[in-house]
Amino acid sequence: MVPFLNVIHDLYLKQLLSVFSWKQWMSSKGHRDEASRQTATQESGIMRSAARAGCPSPTFIMMVFTAARLYTPLEEIGDPLLFVQDGAITKVSSRAQSETPQGASLLDFGDAILAPGFVDIHMHGGTGVDVMQASPADLARLGKWLTNNGVTGYFPTTVAAPIDQTCAALERIADVIEATRDSTATNGKTPRARPLGIHLEGPFLSHKRRGVHPPEYLAQPTLEVFECLWQAARGHVGMMTIAPELPGALEVIAEAARRNVCVSIGHSDADLASAQAGVKAGAHHATHTFNAMRPLDHRDPGIVGEVLTDNQLSADIIADGIHVSSAVVQLFLHAKGFDRSVLITDATAAAGMPDGRYQLGPMEVEVKAGRCTIDGKLAGSVLTMDRAVRNVAILGGWSLRNAVRAATLNPAHAVGLSPQQGVLSIGSEANIVVLSPTGEVRKTIVRGLTS
Ligand SMILES: [Zn+2]
Repeated sequence: MVPFLNVIHDLYLKQLLSVFSWKQWMSSKGHRDEASRQTATQESGIMRSAARAGCPSPTFIMMVFTAARLYTPLEEIGDPLLFVQDGAITKVSSRAQSETPQGASLLDFGDAILAPGFVDIHMHGGTGVDVMQASPADLARLGKWLTNNGVTGYFPTTVAAPIDQTCAALERIADVIEATRDSTATNGKTPRARPLGIHLEGPFLSHKRRGVHPPEYLAQPTLEVFECLWQAARGHVGMMTIAPELPGALEVIAEAARRNVCVSIGHSDADLASAQAGVKAGAHHATHTFNAMRPLDHRDPGIVGEVLTDNQLSADIIADGIHVSSAVVQLFLHAKGFDRSVLITDATAAAGMPDGRYQLGPMEVEVKAGRCTIDGKLAGSVLTMDRAVRNVAILGGWSLRNAVRAATLNPAHAVGLSPQQGVLSIGSEANIVVLSPTGEVRKTIVRGLTS
């Protein structure tokens, strides 16, 4: 364990407390806040002028990380230097351009790659924890386990269940989102992936394409039901999967989009026109492309035709070699390209556990040899995000950098989290995965704290 925590002189901390409150302001501002970069720059400026104004000389340890390469991920930097203070990135540079400041603590990861921590926008659990049943302590355990896979932020994802169970789960998850949102890197806690928002996978799904979601708990889309879920989640719904062809769906899509929810079409039997109507109403993403969707037919392209051809849409896929054949993963990557392809795990509580039976909302899944099923139907996965990234690099012939992009910047952008998440740039949270040259996770850093 390396001494990662910034050491800040007590007196200096008090004097600068008002300066640091920018972070709380940033998190309260929520999504798509371009001003955050500017604010971070202002922060460094304010600290410099405070020092000039004669404040006591602070013991203000800056962490500097270096390795062989760094993926922002839009760019690759050789011999990088990544500067971290108080859990946030203050500078991204190369050894040729910058020097390590005196007093800074330098950590060299040798031949490794520094990349943004992975962001999983569709996952139901792992290491035996099902997010719909989980207590705050369970979610803390899940968050710790996720860092083994390079994940630093995730969207706990619901399944169709009795409304009271769903609402109780949403309240519990909202509690943890709020409890972990404002903690800083200086609190001495173990690094854990954080829940960043909630993904409602259901109840507004097609009966015909429900997968394993129990039919008795599916609902027709109405503003009333949506409002009820929204209230239970206290506004932390960041993503919603919905079948756009259902009566009432377009109205709910429009309202959810108005509230900055990433509306994602999926679990759907939509024809092309209905899928396009969903996009026109405000959907801009698609959930586990090909799975639980009306299949592509060359004279009846349906929802898959829309997902693959519409450049307004980003889309995600489960690249575990089980849910979609590798040839079709390649087709998907080709269609959505480097900027709109998103990797998800759709992992269940069984991920990271031996074969057996595990909870998935109100259901029980059976896991045998890497397949998660209920009555023979696929029911989520045991995929981890680091493996998904390596699979895409191998199956898709993509560079590791672009595969990483599909697990970092692209999902963060799809759900409106960038520029604070999914990217290594000034003002971003210091969420970093240290990868081997072939994409294995060596270390995960959350807000400057190392695993
Ligand atoms: Zn799912």
